[in-house]
Amino acid sequence: MLEVKTVSAGYGALTVLRDVSLHVEDGEAVALVGANGAGKTTLVRTICGLQRAHSGSIAKNGADISAMPAHELVRHGLAVVLENRRLFGELTVRENLRLAQTVGRRVRAGRMRFSWDEVTTLFPVVQERMDSAVELLSGGQQQMVAIARALLLQPDLLIMDEPSTGLAPKVVKDILLVIKALRDRGMGLLLIEQNVGIAAEITDRAYVMAVGSIVHEIGRGEWQSFLDNELLVKAYLG
Ligand code: ATP
Repeated sequence: MLEVKTVSAGYGALTVLRDVSLHVEDGEAVALVGANGAGKTTLVRTICGLQRAHSGSIAKNGADISAMPAHELVRHGLAVVLENRRLFGELTVRENLRLAQTVGRRVRAGRMRFSWDEVTTLFPVVQERMDSAVELLSGGQQQMVAIARALLLQPDLLIMDEPSTGLAPKVVKDILLVIKALRDRGMGLLLIEQNVGIAAEITDRAYVMAVGSIVHEIGRGEWQSFLDNELLVKAYLG
């Protein structure tokens, strides 16, 4: 379980997140939605230790993970696919994936969930381009490599920051199918998404963020009534 409690954070003197609290239970698929600039990416960066929280706490299965280095987060079963993907562009797809596989094997021994074959089978495109430099791949292909790499870290919770942004509809469809397959396998998901249609398709419930705070919660079974409420959608998501 991921538990973010009353976290405030920002950039220098600028406070962006104010008292943000949310939780993701084991195996649950939860979305964080909000308009541009709401603070979603800042929250992801704070959860994965790229930024320090000014106050509040972040825990995974009871362990304090705030400001933890990346390999320690992996040990705690957390993998993140950031918006800019952070792949090694000059290395091949295989080399990028092998690095993650090595780390996953080392720090998650005994808690392995995905074999190399399973992961590469999920992404046929990745398999076809295994020996290409990542920087030569399209944005959609790179996104798939980034998700595959995250899975080889053997997480039980995957955080994805806007995995569909800027990609062609066909690629988005393929990525959504993979995310659904992961959800059906019991992977915990925190999906950051500006497109509420996509978020509703994939997740069980959601938090709505505006101006750095959680302003609304969409509970289990409440997605449709939220989407039907044009005033609410417009007010929160623009
Ligand atoms: P988007 O959906 O457009 O990515 P977001 O909800 O992820 O938006 P953030 O990127 O977290 O929002 O930005 C929240 C606020 O923090 C914005 O006002 C933004 O200008 C500010 N901000 C983001 N990154 C920095 C930075 N490196 N330095 C200073 N301010 C920043």
